[in-house]
Amino acid sequence: MNIIILDLEWDSAYSVRHQRFVNQIIQIGAVKIDSECKIIDTFSVTVKSSLSKKLTRRFVELTGITSEQMREGVPLTKAVEAYNEWAGTGTLTMTWSTSDLYTIIENCKYLLTPATRFRIEKYADLQSYVQNQMRAVGFELKSQISLSGAAELLNISVEGLELHNAQDDCLLSVALLKRFYDSEKMQAYIKDAANPEFFRRLSFKSYTLSNIKDDKIKPEHLVFKCDKCGMVAKCVTGWKYRNGWFSANFRCSECKKMFIGRVSFKKTYDDLIIKKKIAQPKAVEKKDENAVQRLPEKV
Ligand SMILES: [Zn+2]
Repeated sequence: MNIIILDLEWDSAYSVRHQRFVNQIIQIGAVKIDSECKIIDTFSVTVKSSLSKKLTRRFVELTGITSEQMREGVPLTKAVEAYNEWAGTGTLTMTWSTSDLYTIIENCKYLLTPATRFRIEKYADLQSYVQNQMRAVGFELKSQISLSGAAELLNISVEGLELHNAQDDCLLSVALLKRFYDSEKMQAYIKDAANPEFFRRLSFKSYTLSNIKDDKIKPEHLVFKCDKCGMVAKCVTGWKYRNGWFSANFRCSECKKMFIGRVSFKKTYDDLIIKKKIAQPKAVEKKDENAVQRLPEKV
């Protein structure tokens, strides 16, 4: 299977229509390689912004792309269509970290019509793959590292590569992949990006529930057992919410022990993650009635 290393350059511009800043794609760069990491073809297109005539100074300094070059570019829709045609089918697309995918999501949402979508069939995060391979050979990497950071640690330079005009980022990516290329090991990183679920999952932001009346919270989630005798205890107050945790006072109907039950709910794309703990009440507890969330009375 051929692999495409995709690299996007984007700049922030204000969209009057959406009343917000959008990270608009200004350049699409890509390199197509075979299963021996040999470069087969390259792709580069500069996009003419539909939002602004000028690029930010930071972007110009970072990429070397001038506002003039941007204005001579092609509209985003045309650029994506050209890319899709170049990409073809039956390939694996890789990017250094998933941030390019978030940019794609944003551009699809604000700047493209649903008819125009980046053709990404299979996807793997090159950063995640390379970093894990680096760890396996003894590098201590705590956080995500940049492409150039990884190249520096591995003493990889772009010199000696056969191409001169393709984007440095793509060439560095190819060099890094070549160092750790192992089609068996890579299998575990490959995702089916053609399935709409892939981008839905990516767009989903997990969050903590802060309203005790949320439909996702079921009565059984709020049941606590006495930590002394194991019997189901009775909730004797309303629920207070603070720092991601709900808490309420409980009294054991068997041994009369009082305790505080704490519970937190985190909604992820797939699950509701519930954590529970029991705390011992302080001798004097201040009343804070305003913060109390009461469940509707059950008849
Ligand atoms: Zn008890």
